[in-house]
Amino acid sequence: LRVDESKLTTEYFEQLSRESAELCCAIVPSSEERVRQEVAFRSVLEVARRAFPDASLHHFGSTALGFSLANAGDDFLGKGHTLLEIFVRILTHLKMKDMDLSISLGSNAYDAYTPAQLVEKLGIVMKNAGMRDVKMLTRARVPIVKIRDAITGIRCDIGFQSKLVLYNTRLLKAYSRIDPRFRELVFIVKYWSKQRNINEPYFGTLSSYCFVLMVIHFLQIRGVLPCLQQIAHDGQNVPNIAIDEANVYFCEDVDTLVSSGKWTCTNAETVGELVVAFFKYFSAEFPYVHGVASVRTGSVLSKEDKGWTKDRQQEMNRSVEDPFETTNNVGRPVDKETLFEVRGEFIRASKILCSAGGVGTGAAYEAIL
Ligand code: ATP
Ligand code: MG
Repeated sequence: LRVDESKLTTEYFEQLSRESAELCCAIVPSSEERVRQEVAFRSVLEVARRAFPDASLHHFGSTALGFSLANAGDDFLGKGHTLLEIFVRILTHLKMKDMDLSISLGSNAYDAYTPAQLVEKLGIVMKNAGMRDVKMLTRARVPIVKIRDAITGIRCDIGFQSKLVLYNTRLLKAYSRIDPRFRELVFIVKYWSKQRNINEPYFGTLSSYCFVLMVIHFLQIRGVLPCLQQIAHDGQNVPNIAIDEANVYFCEDVDTLVSSGKWTCTNAETVGELVVAFFKYFSAEFPYVHGVASVRTGSVLSKEDKGWTKDRQQEMNRSVEDPFETTNNVGRPVDKETLFEVRGEFIRASKILCSAGGVGTGAAYEAIL
């Protein structure tokens, strides 16, 4: 990948940062949306208990993270935005509001049913209760029921995931509280991946979760984020808190981490600079063949050391490690065919961002649309 970066001026990066901030404003859920989510949550719980009386329900994933910026969103339409930007807002809104919900049950329920049977049983009560668009994905890696709540219209993915999803959601939340640039970059990358159709693990591309881990990894390497799993409270050894054979410890008290000066960010780059650098990193610099992006260690690990065989044709597969479940290869959905699609999109975005050096070119929108 050869691009002429000499044309990228401070002004251009400022423009990119402004475009990024606008995009974030446009796609932040409103407070009304959050109330509707709460209503949908309660109705899902109520119906789930008809099938499983001891069920408890947990909210995880992006809607639980509340990746939201203060006072953003509501006054967007009043600001003289272009039609394109308004279109972007509507489209993204539609695509990003699925709630991820996880049911936990008393332990004997898991002995009595397979994950697919749990999903079938749940799907049937959801249908009978009048939930809309009920689909049972019994053959997915993690079987889920998809529904649309009849009252609020909110779409939900409901599964019986392990507790680890709640911990990794908390981990991402802690990272989002350290530096606001993380959230903005996540919005841009998620939005771009959905527009470019490379955010569908079911069809061989990457999950949002994988993109978020890639963003954290990149920001760790860049000195914007620390590695929370390597920081002990007492400055001594990192404790071991075992859940489902994983160590789920991480330094969650990020306020103290920052105020005590235990973590000081040395990177002063703007969001615009980081957006350009992110796409450059994953299109030209990251060592896909030998390396694994590891948020857990804040570094690139070697595939060999992890016992993840390297394979040129599968280079993206086995390139991102789950922060807790270290055997979980988060890039798994990507295969020989989709690899070119995904890598190609990174390269495309990077080229557009690096070549649109002029101010006012709308490069961010162009790169991600
Ligand atoms: P979207 O808005 O696209 O739904 P999201 O931020 O909710 O994005 P998802 O990819 O839907 O991201 O993942 C939601 C949550 O599911 C993650 O926060 C994580 O807890 C869990 N998860 C998803 N994929 C995996 C995976 N491969 N391994 C472990 N946990 C996963
Ligand atoms: Mg989700």
